[in-house]
Amino acid sequence: MNATPPADALSPAAAADAAEKKHQHEMNKLSKRLHRLVGQAIADFNMIEDGDKVMVCLSGGKDSYSLLDVLRNLQQRAPIKFEIVAVNLDQKQPGFPDHVLPEYLKSIGVDFHIETQDTYSIVKRLVPEGKTTCSLCSRLRRGILYRVAKELGATKIALGHHRDDIVTTLLLNMFFGSRMKGMPPKLVSDDGQNVVIRPLAYVRESDLAQWAQHREFPIIPCNLCGSQENLQRATVKAMLQDWDKKFPGRVDNMFTAMGNIVTSHMMDRKLFPFETIRATGAPVADGDIAFDEEEHCGEPAPSSVIRMVREGD
Ligand code: SF4
Repeated sequence: MNATPPADALSPAAAADAAEKKHQHEMNKLSKRLHRLVGQAIADFNMIEDGDKVMVCLSGGKDSYSLLDVLRNLQQRAPIKFEIVAVNLDQKQPGFPDHVLPEYLKSIGVDFHIETQDTYSIVKRLVPEGKTTCSLCSRLRRGILYRVAKELGATKIALGHHRDDIVTTLLLNMFFGSRMKGMPPKLVSDDGQNVVIRPLAYVRESDLAQWAQHREFPIIPCNLCGSQENLQRATVKAMLQDWDKKFPGRVDNMFTAMGNIVTSHMMDRKLFPFETIRATGAPVADGDIAFDEEEHCGEPAPSSVIRMVREGD
């Protein structure tokens, strides 16, 4: 019998070899998962069509590097033809290493464009000291990227938001905006001129962090503007991470729930005609179950017992 010896029984060289093989195996699995999930999101929402020119917005963070990387791989295998152009907006934040992205993009041989606009000075001039700068900064950035997309003839703008961003946004909108509103995988931009897509919509942030490390992307720190990440977003994100540790699968379920909305069981009168409904006498699959709890609140009652009670046996 060829039993594998325990790791501590291996020589240092053999142990290192075994660890390297395990790592490679994990990375192969991660690579397959990333490409499968991105391909699935693209197909589910018809994000990219034949002849599209996709402008991939690159910030220099782990998410946008991974997006570009995976999209380029999928481009090689896709049954349709589409172009990719990577775009970075250099906002002239102090200390921004403006050589990093051009060097990387040249090294991988992708079409790219660096747009230089000193929004940092504008924001500093207009926003009083101590106030948060993110809202004006991101509004300026959005406008510039929309214009660049038009100038480059891009038909889609791809952003690096992932599953955790989407769930966090849903909770933020509920907590602070009193709205059930997330972050869509695909939508027309607010100026009506562009189609924005989020091919990483199904991907976990932790997978992107691992991928970025594995691929050794030259990450640019994201705190150069001196502004702190939106405090509420950071709080909700930490809460979700904590939940996911204590109750694995909860964030996945919340994410899946965003695609399974039962409008008759919500309260939006614009989405369901509560005023005009009438009993027809025919059973309704999603009808009200009166005092019963939803099944996940406890042990579901066997249907035969329910029938007996209803029929008075
Ligand atoms: S964190 Fe800095 S760069 Fe990002 S939106 Fe806020 S001000 Fe702009």
